[in-house]
Amino acid sequence: MKKLSCHCGEIKAEINVIGKLEKLLRCNCSICKRKGSIMSMVKNEDFKITKGIEKLNLYQFHSKIAKHFFCSVCGIYTHHNPRSNPAMTGFNVGCIDDIDSTNIKDTVLIDGKNHPLDKK
Ligand SMILES: [Zn+2]
Repeated sequence: MKKLSCHCGEIKAEINVIGKLEKLLRCNCSICKRKGSIMSMVKNEDFKITKGIEKLNLYQFHSKIAKHFFCSVCGIYTHHNPRSNPAMTGFNVGCIDDIDSTNIKDTVLIDGKNHPLDKK
């Protein structure tokens, strides 16, 4: 179990993972490159908001399928449901207190800039 919180602490979540996080991701899409976060993924049922769900804001763009959530108080990106698989939750590894996300070197780069669902 990992605990996630935004910066101001209004939003808290619990992530059901055993041991280390697997697949640490970065993405080059238009929103992720602006956020610059390292992310990881779990199934939706393994990600539970435990505090402040009413303080979450939702941002959507382009196809409006992906859901990008952030704290309405401090503005920090907490988690999202990707367009490629809305049954998964991606979350901001930097929001987990016991992980120093600036120390992570092995990340997988997702080519969200050339999203498979944008190809004709
Ligand atoms: Zn906050």
